[in-house]
Amino acid sequence: MKPNRFQYIAAETIPEALRLLHTHQQDVKIIAGGQSLMPMLNYRVLSPQYLIDIGRLLELDSISVNAGVIEIGAITRYVTMENSPVIQQYLPIMPEVIRHIAHLTIRNRGTIGGSLSHADPASEMPMLMRLLDAQFELRSEHESRMVSAHDFFLGPLHTNLNHHELLTKVVIKVPSPQMGWAFEEFARRSGDYALAAVGITVEVKQVSGKNSAHQLKIAMMGVGDTPLRLSSIETLMNGQEFSDDLVARAKDQILQELDPRPDLQSSAAFKKHLASNIFSRVMHQAWDNAMVHHSGRAES
Ligand SMILES: Cc1cc2nc3c(=O)[nH]c(=O)nc-3n(C[C@H](O)[C@H](O)[C@H](O)COP(=O)(O)OP(=O)(O)OC[C@H]3O[C@@H](n4cnc5c(N)ncnc54)[C@H](O)[C@@H]3O)c2cc1C
Repeated sequence: MKPNRFQYIAAETIPEALRLLHTHQQDVKIIAGGQSLMPMLNYRVLSPQYLIDIGRLLELDSISVNAGVIEIGAITRYVTMENSPVIQQYLPIMPEVIRHIAHLTIRNRGTIGGSLSHADPASEMPMLMRLLDAQFELRSEHESRMVSAHDFFLGPLHTNLNHHELLTKVVIKVPSPQMGWAFEEFARRSGDYALAAVGITVEVKQVSGKNSAHQLKIAMMGVGDTPLRLSSIETLMNGQEFSDDLVARAKDQILQELDPRPDLQSSAAFKKHLASNIFSRVMHQAWDNAMVHHSGRAES
């Protein structure tokens, strides 16, 4: 199919984009990489009167690190983040996650702001943002506000963004160099949207002479209406000596707590089983990675 007729406007400045959003509100859509929006226009799921291209707003195409925070502009593409020395140094989990998103041609065009605003519950970038406790800057013609990833995602394809707002940047605290991490997802074919995925970050801390989980964070996608943080499992494991038994108890609790919806690809029971098994593997990998950092620090 082809889209309904619309007027295309390439914004030259952020204030111009914000003014257009303010003026046209319900009748307008932002286009960034177009990798999710174009199919929706072609199938006429959306039929905006105006399409505002933000691809020329080069100040939104940036990655920087300053005063302990990493800032990523909204139109930064997946490939740019994947190959960025700043991201590779401070957020090595991000290139690993990005490599699982779709195919190279899509990663060449797709942007971080587009993925977050689209808010597909099976998308990797929203899950990563929840894992890293990212904050998003949302700007409108008259104000600017920061919203946490926790508060941003409200449901499938549904966010805290108002019609007149533009997501302009993502802010992430630089993680501790002691942080271990791991990510894994399951998709039926390489490049497909995943059925489930798990990302974990953790540090090792000596408590009473025992190696214990510290600052443990667990995020999942594909098993809820939004990307999930498993705070009850984090509470169960944080401060505890790491062991196979602890991971097994956490896995049992995950099986009890997860409540995914069945979909065309899998039943709810299958998704729970899948996600809890991925959790066990990823937890062990993240812990091994954290132990490497911990031993490195002990030796130096
Ligand atoms: C075949 C295929 C496979 C895919 N597989 C995956 C996958 O495995 N994992 C995955 O995560 N994604 C996947 N995608 C989606 C892809 O990652 C998209 O690039 C991404 O979801 C949207 O980014 P975009 O820059 O293309 O946004 P666009 O398509 O341009 O926009 C998406 C939505 O966000 C809004 N928007 C964009 N930027 C902003 C902004 N700065 N502020 C406010 N609103 C904004 C738009 O109005 C639109 O509603 C796939 C896409 C295709 C076509």
